[in-house]
Amino acid sequence: MIRSGTQVPTGFTARTDVCIIGSGAGGGVAAGLLAEAGREVLVLEEGRHVPGEDMTQREEEMYPLLYRDGGSQYTADGGVSVLQGRTLGGSTVVNMADVVPIELPILEHWRRGFGLDRYSDERWEEASRASQEGVFANRIPPEMVNLNGQILLEGGEKTGHSGGCFDHNRVGCVSSGYCSVGCAYDAKKSVAVTWIPRALATGRALVQTDARVESLERDGARITAVVGSIIERNTNRVVAPFRVEADHVILAAGAIHSPLLLDGIGGPALGQNLSLNPQAPLTALMSGDVKHYRGIPQAAYLDDEEVISAELGLGGYRIESIGSTPGMAAASMPIWGPTAREVFARFNQTVAALVLVPDRPGGTVTRKANGRPNIDYTLQEGWKRALRRGLRVGAEVYLATGADSVLLPLVGSTPIRNGDDLAQIDELPIDANWLPLISAHPQGTCRAGTERATSVVDRRFFVHGIQNLQVLDASVFPTTSSSHTMIPVMQVAHLGVGELL
Ligand SMILES: Cc1cc2nc3c(=O)[nH]c(=O)nc-3n(C[C@H](O)[C@H](O)[C@H](O)COP(=O)(O)OP(=O)(O)OC[C@H]3O[C@@H](n4cnc5c(N)ncnc54)[C@H](O)[C@@H]3O)c2cc1C
Ligand code: SF4
Repeated sequence: MIRSGTQVPTGFTARTDVCIIGSGAGGGVAAGLLAEAGREVLVLEEGRHVPGEDMTQREEEMYPLLYRDGGSQYTADGGVSVLQGRTLGGSTVVNMADVVPIELPILEHWRRGFGLDRYSDERWEEASRASQEGVFANRIPPEMVNLNGQILLEGGEKTGHSGGCFDHNRVGCVSSGYCSVGCAYDAKKSVAVTWIPRALATGRALVQTDARVESLERDGARITAVVGSIIERNTNRVVAPFRVEADHVILAAGAIHSPLLLDGIGGPALGQNLSLNPQAPLTALMSGDVKHYRGIPQAAYLDDEEVISAELGLGGYRIESIGSTPGMAAASMPIWGPTAREVFARFNQTVAALVLVPDRPGGTVTRKANGRPNIDYTLQEGWKRALRRGLRVGAEVYLATGADSVLLPLVGSTPIRNGDDLAQIDELPIDANWLPLISAHPQGTCRAGTERATSVVDRRFFVHGIQNLQVLDASVFPTTSSSHTMIPVMQVAHLGVGELL
């Protein structure tokens, strides 16, 4: 049963086998697996349940309903927009449905650098297979790659850069292009339409929405209760308290909010090692219509300069085609005046991509006095170098396909119309607030490792020193897990739940 906040106006108390905090990629999978294994499960989700039929495809209605802070969560300096879902199904409801599991060299990197040697490559691959099957992953057929994606691949070919088409978790997609504001057709197989229904079908799961967990009560080495408030849907006003006792607790509130709930429990590494993998938008104007906002938004990529190694982990950059909604496009291009007028007058003729640059762990998340997260993050020099390279290659790719101008995301840039204009990419400042950056993949703030001094959870994803508390979300990765984190989180959920069965 899915129970909304309005159904418990005076709050509630409950006892259960497993209490799961958050219903996204980690929490959703854990709920399904545990309920199917015979455990009684209570999922607490701060957001609300928004079924497909209520998804209106309107930005102004869907961002407040589906996103954390209505899509306006930022780093403390305002430099990076940190996007996260806040709804039943978490970020899997608003994501681009690209399926990219953890590559084996990354696992080796974690074994060598962080002692994460509990699971063999075979176990991780098994978890990858199960994760992909669970959300019906399949290859995007070539005929479903929209013109925006085709232009990126064609430009790559002309300039000597290779890439491909993503696997995705869509079935019956009608190519509407509205993935970022929720799929009205239930074609995107988010956990809200896969794992949560699987959990509910057992009769052993209860999902409580509008339930914000505020703290964990602890007695020695055990968590004794999960406490929080039912919140009013439109105002976030506290309505009533709840208290849940459970044999086992799984924290899956995502990489920004999980560390807040471990305040006083997580040890010195808590909230450290944040990676954001910021992405910068690149757009270009073509002579004919592209309608980049129609079709599967993120179907194609160029990744020949992405580096995946056991020594260094994930590095380099990749360029991915992207479909944008008009409001998001306006917010993510530093243009105004006549340029903005021209771009939006020719919106149908724009092509768009994101340059995604993996970073090294280095940011922090701490809890402000008002309980909200403070996301402290500085752009690293290596990251800036890789971004400059990615922007240059992206601009060359678009020029090669006949774009009449390429628009850089850098403040002070002028449209690139030929090779001579590329020099500005190396000269203009790249720093917080000098370019619009988006992060859809925050991770690392409850890093897994062997020592409490340097990590928050152990190799089984149990919080060091606590017998009945696991973290199963994007916060446990010691370094960037993949260019896309949904399947990696699900892999962690499979392995972590496996420890309980
Ligand atoms: C716009 C966007 C596009 C993306 N595109 C892709 C993609 O194409 N491919 C890919 O692999 N990944 C993508 N991702 C990333 C991927 O979806 C996430 O990495 C993944 O969902 C993270 O899983 P999680 O369990 O850590 O957190 P989430 O899925 O974010 O779930 C966390 C849940 O916890 C809830 N919560 C938080 N705090 C509390 C609290 N105190 N009490 C109760 N509940 C709480 C939240 O409301 C949320 O529902 C994208 C993400 C975004 C935002
Ligand atoms: S593009 Fe496909 S998956 Fe995305 S919202 Fe449209 S129908 Fe759903």
